Amino acid sequence: MRQLVLTGPRQLVWQDVPDPQLSGDGQALVRPLAVATCDLDHPIVAGTTPFPLPVALGHECVAEVVEVGSAVGSVKVGDRVVVPFQISCGTCGACARGLTSDCERVAPLSMYGFGVAGGERGGFLADLVHVPYADAMLVPVPEGVDPRAVASASDNIADAWRLVAPWLAEWPGEEVLIRGGAGSIGLYAIDVARALGASRVTYLDVAGDRLALAADLGADVVELVAEEPLPRLRRVAITADFSGTVDGLRHVLECTAPGGHCTHAAPIFAADVPLPLLAMYTFGVHLHVSRCAARPAIPAILALVAAGRLHPERVTTDVVGWDEAAAELVQPRTKLVIAR
Ligand SMILES: [Zn+2]
Ligand SMILES: [Zn+2]
Repeated sequence: MRQLVLTGPRQLVWQDVPDPQLSGDGQALVRPLAVATCDLDHPIVAGTTPFPLPVALGHECVAEVVEVGSAVGSVKVGDRVVVPFQISCGTCGACARGLTSDCERVAPLSMYGFGVAGGERGGFLADLVHVPYADAMLVPVPEGVDPRAVASASDNIADAWRLVAPWLAEWPGEEVLIRGGAGSIGLYAIDVARALGASRVTYLDVAGDRLALAADLGADVVELVAEEPLPRLRRVAITADFSGTVDGLRHVLECTAPGGHCTHAAPIFAADVPLPLLAMYTFGVHLHVSRCAARPAIPAILALVAAGRLHPERVTTDVVGWDEAAAELVQPRTKLVIAR
């Protein structure tokens, strides 16, 4: 089969590799139909992340099931499914607690599309993908939902979901503040927050297309201007930092209400980051720092899309054909979808 491999910064090559095979009765093989870029893919392609190359790229997709083992019961050949980017068994202690990002049955950080850093699981820009725990991982796409619209449910929409959904469930109707950044997750988070009943969503970003789209999605937008001090804003209970910068994180913490919850979602690739711990202590601000666990959020996301209450297709900036992937992936975009 063919798979698209990043061999050096901005160097993408289609390579012929052996087809994956089933080696157990709970496994499946799937054929990706629509692959979306994760917000991390652009920096990976540009060579600015610590992930070693080569990387078989792509870890967000809707795929068609082409083969299943005899013990697989939740999906059948021909089904269209969202494939979570993390490998998870669904039954270990971590998976039972919803931490499919930390499944105890596989090596830490086992995920598609990250090369050796993800355990060499292959990428979704390939003709076939091996799914080791089909019943636990694969989520059927509801009838009538366009695979291109929900390809990012594998990772980025699920990442947006965890920024706001658990806290809106705890505090219905609360206000949400999101500090956006390069990519899509902050925009998806606006859509999720609106769908789940946030009374108001404030979105902070630098000028550009993302700010305009944020307003279209229903956010009150605050334009950040380089070289100018970050604005003093009213504190709200649910906040998310997707800036990828230390200043951005510290600003969002200052915008978080006493007892409120801030999620830090865009990794800062630095070992030591100074935090305003005394202010956080004084105001009782909760700061959550983690990767997302994608699988548990996917069914609720697909149900809201099927009901017309979530609109991830509005965040997609470009849809291109399969053979254009290598040329298109070197261009930074908010959300590129590659379909066949
Ligand atoms: Zn990702
Ligand atoms: Zn597990």
